[in-house]
Amino acid sequence: MSPMTRRQKFSILFPNAPAFRLKQMEEALFSSVFHGFADVSNMPLAMRETLTKELPWLAVTAVQVFESVKKDTFKAVVAVEGKKRVETVLMKNARGQWTVCVSSQIGCAMACTFCATGTMGFTRNLTADEIVDQVRFWIYFLRKKSILFSTLRPGLEERDSRGGAEDFESRISNVVFMGMGEPLANYEQVKEALRLLLTYTDIGMTRITVSTVGLLPMLRKLLSDPAWPAVRLAVSVHSADSDTRKRLMPSSYDGFLDGLVAWTEEYFQKFESRRRHLTFEYVMLSKINDTQRHAEALIRFAHRVGKVRINLIPYNFTGSVYRDSLPGDFERFQQQLEVAGVVVTRRRTMGDDIAAACGQLIVEKNVTPAIV
Ligand code: SF4
Repeated sequence: MSPMTRRQKFSILFPNAPAFRLKQMEEALFSSVFHGFADVSNMPLAMRETLTKELPWLAVTAVQVFESVKKDTFKAVVAVEGKKRVETVLMKNARGQWTVCVSSQIGCAMACTFCATGTMGFTRNLTADEIVDQVRFWIYFLRKKSILFSTLRPGLEERDSRGGAEDFESRISNVVFMGMGEPLANYEQVKEALRLLLTYTDIGMTRITVSTVGLLPMLRKLLSDPAWPAVRLAVSVHSADSDTRKRLMPSSYDGFLDGLVAWTEEYFQKFESRRRHLTFEYVMLSKINDTQRHAEALIRFAHRVGKVRINLIPYNFTGSVYRDSLPGDFERFQQQLEVAGVVVTRRRTMGDDIAAACGQLIVEKNVTPAIV
């Protein structure tokens, strides 16, 4: 069972508190000035003391942090409720800003056969706090790095080899829900996490992407949910051939692709202006879904859904029966799509050396705790 959120606990601890006190607490969590509830001087002392005793300032604690050789990707194994572990990733994007990849569940029930997380099974949903605190964890991490490097004397060898303070000063500009778990299977907590991020950070709706295996009931639900924000959506297709898709994604079924086409039509009817907010993801697996036949099926699918971007993803999980597409096959597949007029992009692989790339997130059962 998932623990209570800070919001729920606050209303139990202070049932008669005016609404602005809850807002003050939430604002404080995202402020760069405060480091704990005790610092929040605009709240009554007794309230600060109770909060300090009853609520952790950060709902996740670092167990281990890994850094990629290129120093542009970090992966953290973080503990929730002291012992359960999930992973979160920080990546430097092409514009030099940082993107955080958050997990939304401990493990995942979807069991996609190409995914490391899919082999873990499902433990529980993360709360909204445990999700947004992965972002807050990286905010603190970057701040600490920036302070650390700005105190190094110029010319110090470590500064040269590890990058300067300015590398860590850049802000977190994007958040992607592409870590462990299926976000739409944890709909309410993910929606609350989106509300917190959109209310208390300067990260806008078009800078947040929720990735889904394509849970059609939930995709339909968000179309008519006024509280679901207009964040970007990335729907995993991975094959437009029904049998191949069922093999890769046990959550798939006959008729899924037709259902997805119908949902996409409805999405565009409702949100024509959000056309560019929707992407279909396609992980490239050698001889499994990258053949000419699969490209033709994907072209037919893409023509049915209209102008939607297909994002081709290089495969990274080495402990798997699947292999990444051969470079020639990848090129041919991409070209076949482009010639047919399909809008296609290719995702940059980052952090594969620290198992932080797409499809690689898995928490080892016996991780040795270490201080960051
Ligand atoms: S790809 Fe996503 S939905 Fe599928 S098992 Fe992995 S984490 Fe779950």
